[in-house]
Amino acid sequence: MALEPKKKKAKHEDSYLSVGEFNDKKKAAVPRAVLADEFTRQFKTVEVFAADIKDRTKTSELIRSLNDKFPLAGLEHLKRVRSIKHGKDAIIQIILCPKKKQCVDFTSSLKDILQQNRIDSELLGEPFVTNVAKHSPLTREQFSEASSCWPVNFHEDKYISRVLRGELFDDGELQLITKFMRLAIQIAATNMTSQKFPIGAVIVDPQTNHAIAMSYDLRYTGHPLQHSVMVCIDLVAHNQLSGAWQLDCEAVNGTWTMSERIPQLQEHLNFSHHNKHSLDSKPSETGERSLNVMEPSDLATNKDQICKSTPYLCTGYDLYVTREPCVMCAMALVHSRIRRVFYGCSDNVLGALGSRYKIHTQTGLNHHFEVFSGVLEEECRSIFEQSFAYDLC
Ligand SMILES: [Zn+2]
Repeated sequence: MALEPKKKKAKHEDSYLSVGEFNDKKKAAVPRAVLADEFTRQFKTVEVFAADIKDRTKTSELIRSLNDKFPLAGLEHLKRVRSIKHGKDAIIQIILCPKKKQCVDFTSSLKDILQQNRIDSELLGEPFVTNVAKHSPLTREQFSEASSCWPVNFHEDKYISRVLRGELFDDGELQLITKFMRLAIQIAATNMTSQKFPIGAVIVDPQTNHAIAMSYDLRYTGHPLQHSVMVCIDLVAHNQLSGAWQLDCEAVNGTWTMSERIPQLQEHLNFSHHNKHSLDSKPSETGERSLNVMEPSDLATNKDQICKSTPYLCTGYDLYVTREPCVMCAMALVHSRIRRVFYGCSDNVLGALGSRYKIHTQTGLNHHFEVFSGVLEEECRSIFEQSFAYDLC
């Protein structure tokens, strides 16, 4: 079989991109919101009894009586009445009550039930069964589906609508998201050469766009619990003079990182902000600041200052990580009060923020954060699949 001639590569990455290619490239960097299942669930209906209202002047009276005697428990999103066209006229119909399984001969028994509850069944036409939306609509799409059965109430959440339309981030924000994910990829790449786990994580303060901490994965070279996210959170804790692990780490231009970093990362640490919370008095010979240079008396003094001036762990911070976090890391993110998580590729086996579980949407937890997936997804997946780690999953 004849091989097609290879297409010439563009000399400069972006110089010769067509509009379509440019949009595709931009699209690849657009984060996808990982929402609770309620926002994407399949449309379901339930059956209710309804009837025509013979005398429309009695509509309000019937609504009051039926709301009182037969409240639509669990179906509060439904409007009690609807108007449908019938030739030149309009017919008003009203929901009587949900259909119950035991009501087989419903037409006769229902009229009896209405009479027993002092609802004048003579004001109503013959009861019939109709389908209505089972769940309250949360999106415009769900509202449209639900309304096709029976009118429903809908209070649009403008923020969610922007999220669903992919309009949450402007170009400047997308550039920053891409920049920090590229940094995470770079960190992950440092782990490929020495049989380590190629996952990189960066925690950023979005108020200053300053990377507070960045780390790679140490689960096979350090401690089994030292996933990159766990290490990164611990580095943030180091920044607050705390932390659970004795890590070989240091602060470079206000970014906490493992001491064994590659020189190329230095160029990514070109942040204007120095670490406000770093230990202020004794820079090392290289200009870097380290816990090691603190005297015990200074430590106590600074610890008080830091406790007052820093948020609790990751409060208000964003995490960028090349691979979807596991349950342990997701729960650590809950406990550390992270604000948003951006990840690259999914983990269909262990992923706890969209694939296997959606920890961040669990209503019983006392902290929730936003999650976005698919940021530079192919690059993040590629770097993982090139490594030995892929064989372990
Ligand atoms: Zn993990």
